[in-house]
Amino acid sequence: MADKYQNFINGEWVDAAGGETFENRNPANWDEVVGVFPKSGEEDLNAAVAAAREAYDEWRLTPAPERGNIMKRVGDIMVQRKEELSRLMTREMGKVLAETRGDYQEGIDTAYYASGEGRRLFGHTVPSELPNKFNMSMRMPIGVAGIITPWNFPMAIPTWKIFPALLCGNTVVFKPASDVPATATKLVEILLDAGIPPKAINLVHGSGSKVGTPLIKHPDVDLISFTGSSEVGKIISSESGKDLKRVSLELGGKNAQIVMDDAKLDLALDGVIWGAFGTTGQRCTATSRLILHEKIHDEFLEMLLDRVAKLRLGDGLLESTDVGPVVNESQIKTVEYYVNVGQQEGAKLAIGGEVAKDGDLAKGWFYKPTVFTRVTPEMRIAKEEIFGPVLSVLKVKDVKEAIDVLNNTEYGLSSSMYTQDINNAFRAIRDIQCGITYINGATIGAEAHMPFGGMKNTGNGHREGGWTVYEFFSEVKVAYVDFSGKLQRAQIDNY
Ligand code: NAD
Repeated sequence: MADKYQNFINGEWVDAAGGETFENRNPANWDEVVGVFPKSGEEDLNAAVAAAREAYDEWRLTPAPERGNIMKRVGDIMVQRKEELSRLMTREMGKVLAETRGDYQEGIDTAYYASGEGRRLFGHTVPSELPNKFNMSMRMPIGVAGIITPWNFPMAIPTWKIFPALLCGNTVVFKPASDVPATATKLVEILLDAGIPPKAINLVHGSGSKVGTPLIKHPDVDLISFTGSSEVGKIISSESGKDLKRVSLELGGKNAQIVMDDAKLDLALDGVIWGAFGTTGQRCTATSRLILHEKIHDEFLEMLLDRVAKLRLGDGLLESTDVGPVVNESQIKTVEYYVNVGQQEGAKLAIGGEVAKDGDLAKGWFYKPTVFTRVTPEMRIAKEEIFGPVLSVLKVKDVKEAIDVLNNTEYGLSSSMYTQDINNAFRAIRDIQCGITYINGATIGAEAHMPFGGMKNTGNGHREGGWTVYEFFSEVKVAYVDFSGKLQRAQIDNY
């Protein structure tokens, strides 16, 4: 019997008001039902928002260091449950165990960072232009935060949002992706075990249209933090703009790794294999394009194809697996679609390009690691996000062309250059239009205490992670205290 899960609304574990449910199956083995979850709707969502609103006044007045102490306990509980929940994450969305452990660890790091932030949340004191007057700024909570997350980082991304939201004194309504509802439920259990007031965290399972849309439109929701596709991000931006809601959008990517003629090729090879096929290419920071200097193009391609041929597909729980399944049928159809597009556009399919069906793979959503060569910058496979194990290789003649080709997409999340030349490296850091540039590192591998996010259509300018996410989840308040005992007029009495 599959495990049965519930929503957490108004301090209680409950079914959906309409009584409907949905199943979540293991993408590596469709026979395995990971769990059965409530298929919620507007009624459930409204109850969750009402509870979060009710809890807000008490939570916002809880001293921030005390909120931080709870975050410390969250981290401690997460440490104890790391192995159990990493395995659950792999069963839910497929990526290999080493990577779900990493995803989970990012949640632990985020909890401890939040814990420390409870004793910081710095404001400024600034001299007044008038005598006997004191000026200060401070960070205030905002209200009810609506959190909408994707499936590819089932633990890290919800923690990036929920922990700082709560630490700043906001209360939360959390709508996770329907592909990873079990991980989301476990995260809420941990928050409750650590001592978050029950009504301050609410969890509503269900689809984007039935739960996500009413969450965005709800007048009692003060801010929305969304990570997902650019397509949905645009809808959320325009919907929440109607009510002038504060919105943070972390969206798609079309990331590239450049390999210059002076690069250490073995190192660059490790980087592109990890960047392109880690998480089966389903990271927002995945290496989707490889830009090779013409002098090393042929040699590097040979090395690359040799390594790709050796990648072992399989269940992410097995130690022998290098690449897990694609998350679901719709995602595998997107990959198939783009592989057709690439062939029609005239790129050369050098390896892969088909669903894998051998043996146990026949029971899951497996796609062979795929490389296109002879890709040109104007092709769709060089510009559009695919979100699967597909790499497009482009050839360039110098550093300027490499950076121009890299920038030739609507996205601007992550990027990488392998080079031993410091001039190339600093040029890349300055001229690449991405929120993140790695030098001699893969396009994936963000650290929890650094700002994370992208330029151009990858987002709307906010950053998760590090100190910057605390700016999104709090509002600046300024206070002036006049202790002169008389009316003092700024800009008038002192000039
Ligand atoms: P998605 O946009 O389909 O869904 C994301 C979330 O939004 C899900 O919870 C979904 O149910 C919900 N949703 C869907 N339609 C909605 C609507 N109309 N209103 C409100 N909510 C709605 O994305 P996905 O397939 O889950 O994730 C993959 C995408 O996420 C990729 O484009 C990837 O690049 C992006 N991503 C970005 C980052 C980043 O930090 N920039 C990180 C991870 C993933």
